[in-house]
Amino acid sequence: MTARIVFTTLAATALIAVAPIAQQAPAPAPASAPAPAAANPKLDALKKEAVAEVENRKVFTQQMVDQIFSYGELGFQEVETHRYLVDILKKNGFQVEEGVAGIPTAFVATWGSGKPVIALGSDIDGIPQASQKPGVAWHEPLIEGAPGHGEGHNSGQALNVTAAIVVKKIMEREKLSGTIRLWPGTAEELVGTKAYFIRAGLFKDVDVALFTHVSDGLDVSWGARSGTGLVSVQYSFQGETAHAAGAPWRGRSALDAVELMDIGWNFRREHLRLSQRSHNVIIDGGDQPNVVPRTASVWYYFRETDFAHIKEMWETGDTIAKAAAMMAGVELLPTKVLGAAWPQHFNKVVAETTWANIQKVGMPQWDEDDQTLAKALQKELKNPRAEGLTTKLGEQLQGPVRENTGGGSDDIGDVSWTVPTVTLRYPANIPGLPGHNWANAIAMATPIAHKGVTAGAKVQAMTILDLVMRPELVQQAWTYFKDVQTKDTKYEPLIRPQDQPAIWLNKNTMDRYRPEMKKYYYDPAKYKTYLEQLGIKYPMVKK
Ligand SMILES: [Zn+2]
Repeated sequence: MTARIVFTTLAATALIAVAPIAQQAPAPAPASAPAPAAANPKLDALKKEAVAEVENRKVFTQQMVDQIFSYGELGFQEVETHRYLVDILKKNGFQVEEGVAGIPTAFVATWGSGKPVIALGSDIDGIPQASQKPGVAWHEPLIEGAPGHGEGHNSGQALNVTAAIVVKKIMEREKLSGTIRLWPGTAEELVGTKAYFIRAGLFKDVDVALFTHVSDGLDVSWGARSGTGLVSVQYSFQGETAHAAGAPWRGRSALDAVELMDIGWNFRREHLRLSQRSHNVIIDGGDQPNVVPRTASVWYYFRETDFAHIKEMWETGDTIAKAAAMMAGVELLPTKVLGAAWPQHFNKVVAETTWANIQKVGMPQWDEDDQTLAKALQKELKNPRAEGLTTKLGEQLQGPVRENTGGGSDDIGDVSWTVPTVTLRYPANIPGLPGHNWANAIAMATPIAHKGVTAGAKVQAMTILDLVMRPELVQQAWTYFKDVQTKDTKYEPLIRPQDQPAIWLNKNTMDRYRPEMKKYYYDPAKYKTYLEQLGIKYPMVKK
């Protein structure tokens, strides 16, 4: 799997400037080629060692992927996941601060000292109603109605933890200056925490943030990414109960205001920009039909491609909510922001550095079983092109998106406007899936995820070493951040001073399902893999 890595054997020391040498076998020229690095045989040797050490730890990595998959916890309730990761990190010499930014399932684990400070992050939460047996190419929940890892957030921490432990060992021996800081993307599916981490100062001394996210390919990009930022707002109304048949004229229905707000928004939608996305769920619609609803709440996501337009949509939403309250004769209570995310913008220098390492690692070697599962699932989902897993890297490093037609959000956007950041996307899932769905869980505790995470950890370990041993990269990354990215656009949080992390979310759902889910927690002392524990003969496909 590492055959594409070519290391120079020049005997020159790292500090002697020598003519740039070709780093490796021919690869298509990136759109924007990084300045060729001076030969650095020591760095090359340490990277080679890191790659071998990540490979040696592939069982450890697999166990983390499977363990977190089996917890399947929703945002803000990642109690088991939090405990598990904190224990591993403490055992491996990291100092851990728990409950950061007032969020019980958020931690910061630190090792090392001095510059650079490298922050490694990845999300940890699951998706409602995504419970699914892994390795089975059709919908088969472990527990009907329970949450599960229908996005693949069980895998990114495993990648970072393995990479961090490997690099830590090398840095200790080589007495290299630098600080490694691991942190979880708690409640990412609610875009619920990263803006609060920033407010709490978690990134104030960070030089570079290396984020990871599950994907079906191995890549990284720089500049403005496609997709949106968003603000997530709860509108609650208060009216007066009455007998809905006996004296309806004495009541005022809060649910009427919710429905009127939704109708108003849906009319207004025609006159919004094409790049917007907006959606809502009614989280309180009253108690029973013969009691006029005294309280009702609706929860909106307002998404747009830049800060100004997000704010504009939010103001429109507030206006419609006030108008709906007036029509229904009820009170609009103070609104709650439940989450927020800036649109994402990734650092050019860090992306180029990561991309060079991606080319050295290459895609994992999928075997026939992996491809059989992937093609069977694609067929099950009536995907017109059931082409299986991605086998090749993209041809070049992707730059800024040309036309942003909107899409999903990730609160790593806030981090990306605070310090130089990239998201390393690693190939742990099957292409062509709907997202936020049981289907996205199927590969996530199989060899597909295990191989993809190990490949990603190799890239991550090499990139950390680059940043530690080539201080000029950190400097260049900040030059891009200050002189290009934030020249005209400055970060301004969407969360307001009065907003607090919405740590109560998902509590009821987890309280309901956790006792049953506990029976399915992975036990690595007894079983090599989670598939083995569940008695699944990989891959299971329809004949
Ligand atoms: Zn995600």
